[in-house]
Amino acid sequence: MSHFQDLGLVAPLLKALSAEGYTNPTPIQAQAIPFVLAGHDLLGIAQTGTGKTAAFALPILNHLAKTPKQRAPRTARVLVLSPTRELASQILDSFRAYGRNLKLDSTVIFGGVPISRQVRAAQNGHDIVVATPGRLVDLVSQRALSLSNVEILVLDEADQMLDMGFIRDIKRLVALLPKQRQNLFFSATMPKEIAELANELLRNPQQVAVTPVATTAERVDQQVIFCDQPKKQALLHKLLEDKSIARALVFARTKHGADKIVRHLGAAGFIADAIHGNKSQGQRERALAAFRNGKSRLLVATDIAARGIDVDGVTHVINYDLPNVPESYVHRIGRTARAGAAGIAISFCGHDERAYLRDIERTTRQRVPAVDNPLGSEAGASLGQETEQAPRPQGQRPFGGHKAGGKPGQQQRRRFHGGKPRNAGERRASNGQ
Ligand code: AMP
Repeated sequence: MSHFQDLGLVAPLLKALSAEGYTNPTPIQAQAIPFVLAGHDLLGIAQTGTGKTAAFALPILNHLAKTPKQRAPRTARVLVLSPTRELASQILDSFRAYGRNLKLDSTVIFGGVPISRQVRAAQNGHDIVVATPGRLVDLVSQRALSLSNVEILVLDEADQMLDMGFIRDIKRLVALLPKQRQNLFFSATMPKEIAELANELLRNPQQVAVTPVATTAERVDQQVIFCDQPKKQALLHKLLEDKSIARALVFARTKHGADKIVRHLGAAGFIADAIHGNKSQGQRERALAAFRNGKSRLLVATDIAARGIDVDGVTHVINYDLPNVPESYVHRIGRTARAGAAGIAISFCGHDERAYLRDIERTTRQRVPAVDNPLGSEAGASLGQETEQAPRPQGQRPFGGHKAGGKPGQQQRRRFHGGKPRNAGERRASNGQ
């Protein structure tokens, strides 16, 4: 299936897709849309960046367009549950963009903002509600919204819901839904608890899986720089002298760490914002907007806050701290490889983070090439020699590296390309592969 026209979507949707500049469905869209249109439950194993939002939003909009109903007060026909406010807002934006030629009402419900407006908005009823679980439970408990008319339930990023402790809220909400409904369940990974939840929720689901963890990482040029912890700030400043790092997402492990990085960057004259759980909704939105419209070149984020950040043209992901969960590494570097683009991910690895690096390499089944520390050996560049990494070719330039996954001894020298990320094909060609 190579064109949206072949999927049987109504004309107003096709028109919106063409306005969005989408020509061909992504693999998850091509696989999932026909099943969802046919009314099946769906288990989608996919992460952000694969086009999964449109994979559920398009057939849902198609259903609503084909079965118009008068909106009933304080009800919703479609409920989408999302772990974070950012993701919820982006899902709503997608529904509105794809549904721009349909007369549908959609809204987003999340915490951190006054509930009164959401209560008022719910009075007339909505076609589509995108919500984070906690605030939705509040709204339902206040009887501001009833879930008894929900025809389609979407659970997005279920594994993240589990990590964030939302499973109980989800079960409470699901108990209030009509028995007769369609369920669409998306998760990037399938830990045991998530498989059990999927089992409870879904009836004879069709399963689609795209870009398993290991292959997502292949689209991103990955590098690791060994660096003593106290020298990381100087290393970051040094890297940022390279103007080809046009839009970089910098990851810190903690909120405090993220704030500290922003402070140091500011002192060194680099404009940066932080986004994490202690920031107000307004602060988060302003930081994201500045990053998106190019006012700030750098956004410093923690893992949870970064979930669902969908910003085009992120040239670099910089892991200031390595995550202790390997899947987070894959999510992080995926921020620079949206919708098939390639990108560059540079990880700083302190002495105490080597075990994390090994876990990451085991999970992705790829070696992350080590490159010389541009601050010189005193900053920890020599640390690389002590690890299980294969020895580097002599005289390798800072930022240079070899193609991930190569066998030791078969490494090829690769020039650093800091500019616009090239696509995987070009990369392979320039690597002589
Ligand atoms: P998602 O995985 O839903 O977060 O989508 C990732 C990005 O891909 C978003 O920026 C979408 O706008 C974009 N996208 C989704 N589907 C397509 C498509 N068929 N063609 C081009 N871009 C797409």
